[in-house]
Amino acid sequence: MTRAKLTNEPLKKLKRVTNGIMSFEDKYSIVGTRDTKYDGTFFTAVITTGIFCHPSCRARIPKAKNVIFYDTIEEALQNGFRPCKVCKPMEKIGETPLYIKNLIAELQQNPHEKISDEQLKSKGIEPHTIRRWFKKNYNITFHSFQRMLRINYAFTNIKKGNSITYSAFESGYESLSGFNESYRSLFGESASKSKNRNVINVLRFSSPVGCIIACATEKGLCFLGFIGQKRIEKQFDEIQKQFNAIILPGKNAHLTKVKKEITEYFDGKRKIFSVSLDIVGTEFRKKVWNELLNIPYGKSVSYKEQAIAMNNIKAIRAVASANGANKISIIIPCHRVIGSNGMLRGYASGLHKKSWLLNFEKNNSNLLAQKIINYESV
Ligand SMILES: [Zn+2]
Repeated sequence: MTRAKLTNEPLKKLKRVTNGIMSFEDKYSIVGTRDTKYDGTFFTAVITTGIFCHPSCRARIPKAKNVIFYDTIEEALQNGFRPCKVCKPMEKIGETPLYIKNLIAELQQNPHEKISDEQLKSKGIEPHTIRRWFKKNYNITFHSFQRMLRINYAFTNIKKGNSITYSAFESGYESLSGFNESYRSLFGESASKSKNRNVINVLRFSSPVGCIIACATEKGLCFLGFIGQKRIEKQFDEIQKQFNAIILPGKNAHLTKVKKEITEYFDGKRKIFSVSLDIVGTEFRKKVWNELLNIPYGKSVSYKEQAIAMNNIKAIRAVASANGANKISIIIPCHRVIGSNGMLRGYASGLHKKSWLLNFEKNNSNLLAQKIINYESV
């Protein structure tokens, strides 16, 4: 819990958030900025209204003296605060609303169907809301999403050995030129050229600290990260090149499994993962990532200790850079490596997320240890 110091001095505007630990002033300067990056890492409770919110809530900005910050939903509830009806802090961040889930299911069943604004309105859905949701959650328009599904269907058909013409008409395109144009604008090359490309499937799902995006090949998971993390587009370009593949929404058993395992992790029920990984990297990087897998849940080591564990004390910088190049967040736990002085150093999704993950694992380990002690003392 963090409260304002009783002072008449005005609060300073956003300072740089250092080491993932935020003061009251840091947190207060984020409230109402609509920056969703911090949602889930702390909650804003307002004494005068009895309500608690995500920091990004669009409701009126409360006065600092009326604000208490809590780290968890449980703390806010235990202290008698109710969840806000505007920002709905009890809902998992990035959770897909039911009417959008239904819409996606409908499109997946009939990939050649095109849902127009009129059809959306007749279902009681505001087209503007849908557009905003797809832009925010997939970083593409609803129109592009439908086009990607149609292309995915056509691409699968082409891969099966069907002709491009057959596949284009089969997926609802009225002309071959229309299909080719659409294909080229999406992938930057013609359908005939990408015949030999592989497919990487992509899935997004919610977590308590932000929307997660996962990509998998036929062999295993090749990307896991938070939407909005640094250089995500560049990393997508890299994996498409590395696997000679195109990224498309679609079903994939590894994605189903990773969603289940990550959800269990955030529920505090999973410490190690069994989903298959498909990783591309130099021998050195692979060694570094393997070493990361040796750091136990709830613990952290320094870059130096990691280099020593690899019998390569001189390689601290190279080790840190390989950690930074890790594309499978959480599962390959690069968040468990920190500076020798205890500073958190870098993390693509921001130090506040690294700090949240470390605290979450530490608290969760303590809880389990406590349970064992209680059990033993019975
Ligand atoms: Zn709110």
